[in-house]
Amino acid sequence: MSDNWTEEELKAAVEAYVQMHSDEANGVPFVKKKIYSELADRFGRTEKSFEYRMQNISYVYSLMGRTWVSGLKPAKNVGVNNAAVIERLISEVEGQSLPTIAEFETQVISYKSKVNFSKPSGIKEPEKTYTQVTSFNRDPKVKAWVLKEASGKCECCGSDAPFTTAEGEPFLEVHHLRRLADGGSDTVTNAVALCPNCHREMHYGINKSALVGSMYSKLSRLVHE
Ligand SMILES: [Zn+2]
Ligand SMILES: [Zn+2]
Repeated sequence: MSDNWTEEELKAAVEAYVQMHSDEANGVPFVKKKIYSELADRFGRTEKSFEYRMQNISYVYSLMGRTWVSGLKPAKNVGVNNAAVIERLISEVEGQSLPTIAEFETQVISYKSKVNFSKPSGIKEPEKTYTQVTSFNRDPKVKAWVLKEASGKCECCGSDAPFTTAEGEPFLEVHHLRRLADGGSDTVTNAVALCPNCHREMHYGINKSALVGSMYSKLSRLVHE
């Protein structure tokens, strides 16, 4: 995939993607092929190249620990620069500013793949940056109820919490099945208590959609959003 996409082309692709992402979440039907064909006509590229670009956008969503549009399997050779631009455009188009991850993580992946990669000296005094990040006002009662309901056991794998906190509580994390960033609600019908392993896997695992699906069949209180 050539990297010389203009910002305008990338933005149009991200706009179409964000729309599909929200339509899918809201059960609004759409035809992917029609969307690619309109973009292809507008920018004089092939439908296939837009489909592939959409898969690059899925990859950025996956790095962000978010769900992607089904059928658009993440395609990872997106390039560090494009990943950063796509992530910024997602924030702009969605109107929320989530912590930036994609640029850093694509760099990590690219360094890891280097054959002769010598031990880095790192940064002795990392510079501070201040960014504005969208956060969500959550209900502490929801977290408390879900943790009580789980009573110290991961609601995914059934294991005991891996450790006790300094406050003497079993440590579990509360996760929203439909992410708040994706428009999910902060309610007990959308939240589960997980051990850190299951929690990370539900964000980043290769089988995360199967894992999410298993939660809905396992816990009757959950409601698909
Ligand atoms: Zn677990
Ligand atoms: Zn989570």
